[in-house]
Amino acid sequence: MARCPECAGKMTYNPGTKSMVCNSCGLSLKRHELDSYWKKIKEENIKDLDQSEQKKQRRKEWLEWYSKSKEEKERY
Ligand SMILES: [Zn+2]
Repeated sequence: MARCPECAGKMTYNPGTKSMVCNSCGLSLKRHELDSYWKKIKEENIKDLDQSEQKKQRRKEWLEWYSKSKEEKERY
């Protein structure tokens, strides 16, 4: 079952226009357009995930640096 990339509604094939039409928002896309639409969304999600992973990684590095410098400070 195809899902609408815009509203996640059900999409049905319309043989007249040879496209997938969303029952909820009326979005009409050709099969390959729908595929590339989903591909784009997936890539954007991966990008978002990468960014939050990078933020987490930076925070971890900062914490390591912070605790390290604290230890060093205590030594003196
Ligand atoms: Zn829709």
